[in-house]
Amino acid sequence: MATTRLPIEDLRADLAAALRAGNRVVLSAPTGSGKSTQVPQMLIDEGLVPAGKEVIVLQPRRLAARMLARRVAEERGATLGGEVGFHIRFDRVFGPQTRIKFVTEGILLRMMLTDPELKGVGAIVFDEFHERHLHGDLGIAMIRQLQEKSRPDLLMAVMSATLETGQLSAYLGGCPILKAEGRMFPIEVRYAGAGEASVWERAAQQTAKLVQELPEGDVLIFMPGAYEIRRTVEELQATRGLRECVVLPLHGELPPTEQDAAVARYDTRKIVVATNVAETSLTIDGIRGVVDAGLARVARFDPHRGINTLLIEKISQASAEQRAGRAGRTAPGICLRLWTQKEHEHRPPRELAEIRRVDLAETVLTLKLAGYAELEHFPWFEPPEEKSLARALTLLHDLGALDAAGALTEMGRRMASFPMHPRYARLFLAAQELGCVWHVAVIAALAQGRNLLMPIDNKRRREEREDLLGDTASDFFHLLRAWGMARKQNYNMGFCRQWGIHGGAAREAERGAGQFLRLAQAQGLDTGEGPLDEEAVRRCLLLAFSDQLAKRLDRGTLRCALVHGRKGELRRHSALRDAPLFVAAEIDEIETRGDVTVYLSLATEIDEVWLKEYFPEDFNDSSETFYDPDFKRVECRRLTRFRDLVLASGEGDDPD
Ligand code: ADP
Repeated sequence: MATTRLPIEDLRADLAAALRAGNRVVLSAPTGSGKSTQVPQMLIDEGLVPAGKEVIVLQPRRLAARMLARRVAEERGATLGGEVGFHIRFDRVFGPQTRIKFVTEGILLRMMLTDPELKGVGAIVFDEFHERHLHGDLGIAMIRQLQEKSRPDLLMAVMSATLETGQLSAYLGGCPILKAEGRMFPIEVRYAGAGEASVWERAAQQTAKLVQELPEGDVLIFMPGAYEIRRTVEELQATRGLRECVVLPLHGELPPTEQDAAVARYDTRKIVVATNVAETSLTIDGIRGVVDAGLARVARFDPHRGINTLLIEKISQASAEQRAGRAGRTAPGICLRLWTQKEHEHRPPRELAEIRRVDLAETVLTLKLAGYAELEHFPWFEPPEEKSLARALTLLHDLGALDAAGALTEMGRRMASFPMHPRYARLFLAAQELGCVWHVAVIAALAQGRNLLMPIDNKRRREEREDLLGDTASDFFHLLRAWGMARKQNYNMGFCRQWGIHGGAAREAERGAGQFLRLAQAQGLDTGEGPLDEEAVRRCLLLAFSDQLAKRLDRGTLRCALVHGRKGELRRHSALRDAPLFVAAEIDEIETRGDVTVYLSLATEIDEVWLKEYFPEDFNDSSETFYDPDFKRVECRRLTRFRDLVLASGEGDDPD
């Protein structure tokens, strides 16, 4: 159905020749040249994949996997779920006839766990590899190894819009590199500068100007996330001069029909407000103008909460180039950047690969489950930093997922089946045993969400709130009570303000808890809401945060010693008074004049007896000597971490 000949057609013969001569190829071509939609079809139509075997096309984004499948099905005059299908988390459409399947990168890892040989697969296409998502990096390593070990017949094509293809080809044993030139019209880039107004207001103003200036063509606006997109859409709809335009959002959280609406053609001019899904993953035809907020939500390790979170960050120069490129596919275009040229020059040339930004605990757990024993020897495309690998291994050991030799335990196996950070998987598995899943779901949502309790300036009010929330053995119990109060009042704003409760955060916690409960339910856990069993919840928090166990150094102050030999200070606003032993769910490292202070918050008092009950080997002298290839660089005496801490005497003295 493609009306014009796509540039990728120039590579058809070379692609077929390369994959007849060998089993790997690297393809580089600009966005919109037809890689995602045409290459999978070429593999089938050129007879490169034997009958009965599938082509798996890996996509970093769910939205792109679904939309590409629909497009390719359409091009082949097939119905979705017949010859062409897709499989993403929470949604799958494919059948016994399916030969081309678009899947997200995480799904490939799951497929490999159940069928390590990938028997039904004839070819794997890595699309958008330049994005360097963690799962793509892992996937390419695992497929390379599978080809070398037992599936030399399995074909692999790695496609990229920008990446240094030389490095990729070298990693794949010097396989051929095929390049197609895209057609590109000139694009005028202008810097609109920053400003006082919100990013959506500025975007709407610039869009109005752009629509006036461009004689025809549609406009694409880049925003970091769903919230900013919604605000921008509202702003655009209220902007004079844009009333004639159809304004459409595009992001992964929208229902499929709305996503489809954004790429459809209209008689009037169209303004699409999208996340970076429109940067290289999806091509929207007819765009002549781009307005770029210059921001994106990126996954990054949040040391504060000890998990990965999505943070809004400035995009790199390379990303900004890609985004500008969307304006020049069909005719000369204009790109307006909502920042200054000077600032642009200070931006990093390209994004850091995800493997260098995120916490690896979940990944390491998956790899251990897939049977990789020594992760230093995993064939990484780009190895993670040693210290982040070590941190992940230590944490998994602390959580009981790995034994002293670094092998997966039964607990680790169960944790790996939980689609969440291992720390939270451990929390929920403990809660199932102790019968407090519902409360733990709320606690998990509160821990990952925004601050629920706001400081109250008025002293009397503050004391009133403290009295109301009562004495407690966990900061989470304060939060639970405050949240319960707000919930009872249906998050009434006046009520929340009066008690210094952040109404929005309370509402979000309800949503977050709901999500956790759905995941827990899918794992067969009991999620009914019963009375709060404080001891059960405290025990769960110990098991999930044992790596952040702290002991008060002296009664009068907030100073404490932590496991793994660190020192810290409990935050003044903690509700814990004199608890000698506690776990902290939040840790902040704050640097002042070269000195790093570790601040602990969201604390929960722990009973020393529980430590001996759950970690008996920690108190056993004979456990100090062992040899462990994975941990040898980490810490040799870590098995005695709790004993050292608990038995250390002398108020204010160093624990060792
Ligand atoms: P690449 O992977 O190189 O970025 P694609 O294969 O995604 O290129 O797109 C090739 C062409 O197919 C695009 O230029 C666009 O015109 C068209 N196209 C792709 N997906 C869709 C879709 N969902 N709806 C309409 N047109 C599409």
